[in-house]
Amino acid sequence: MTEIQILLEVLNGLLALGLLYFVARTLPIIRMEMRRRSRLLFAIAGLGVIAAQAVSIARLAGIGMAPEGTGQAFLAVFLGAFLFGLYELLVVEQKEVKDLEHRSVTDSLTGLYDRSYLHHHLLRRTKELRYDEHDLSILFADIDNFKPYNDQFGHAAGDDVLKRVAEALTREARVDDVVVRYGGEEFVIAAGVDHENAVRMAERIRTTIEVRCSVQFDPEIQRDVTISIGVASWKRDAQNILELVPIADQRMYEAKRKGKNRVYAG
Ligand code: GH3
Ligand code: MG
Ligand code: MG
Repeated sequence: MTEIQILLEVLNGLLALGLLYFVARTLPIIRMEMRRRSRLLFAIAGLGVIAAQAVSIARLAGIGMAPEGTGQAFLAVFLGAFLFGLYELLVVEQKEVKDLEHRSVTDSLTGLYDRSYLHHHLLRRTKELRYDEHDLSILFADIDNFKPYNDQFGHAAGDDVLKRVAEALTREARVDDVVVRYGGEEFVIAAGVDHENAVRMAERIRTTIEVRCSVQFDPEIQRDVTISIGVASWKRDAQNILELVPIADQRMYEAKRKGKNRVYAG
């Protein structure tokens, strides 16, 4: 073995030890984020490096008779386990974290966003709207006479209506709009449209729900499902977009007072 080869082996050894030191120092920090599988793969990678270095040091010191290629085999184990571990950590586990985050801001019955996500979304829009002139309107919808519906047909039938209303709202909204189950039978859509288009959208939603969500229980019993909607739009009704939700809520109550199954936009 030439002197250059020995120098390269020593440098290689130092590099591997440096890597191990780095992994050992960072592991406690990221350990909380890692599941057992990626931890195991990183441990195997660490063992692969140690074994490869042990083979190389033994050869340098002239002790032991490891067969030709043993060091490379251990390095291949290290590389394979390290890359697989990295894939687990950055792709598989990150997706699980994202799914969990999504589930923590959505309602399990309808799959819509919940009230806390609406607040977060509106705060984000507040920052954006300060700089440019996008439109934003709030549609506040409440199912009419839902308590008697539950009382007459049961809670499961009520849940079914909630799911169908949620589906109809999602179908009528655009991809950038945020559709929220605000409370029991109350829904909010934060839509990127001006007042005029928001009123049109609300009217379309109201008709769709009346047509699609009404239930024929048997030939004699047909039960209409209708909603009342209040609409409020940014700048026209409030400068602060967080104020739009209570304004749209009040207008929804106004729609109820005027006879239900209607849109009231101020
Ligand atoms: P209005 O037309 O004035 O809105 O009358 P309403 O009967 O719809 O309003 P009210 O607020 O009196 O009743 C709301 C009902 O919604 C009461 C409750 O039983 C029902 N509800 C709330 N959450 C759920 C749910 O998750 N599932 C079911 N099935 N019903 C629910
Ligand atoms: Mg209500
Ligand atoms: Mg109601």
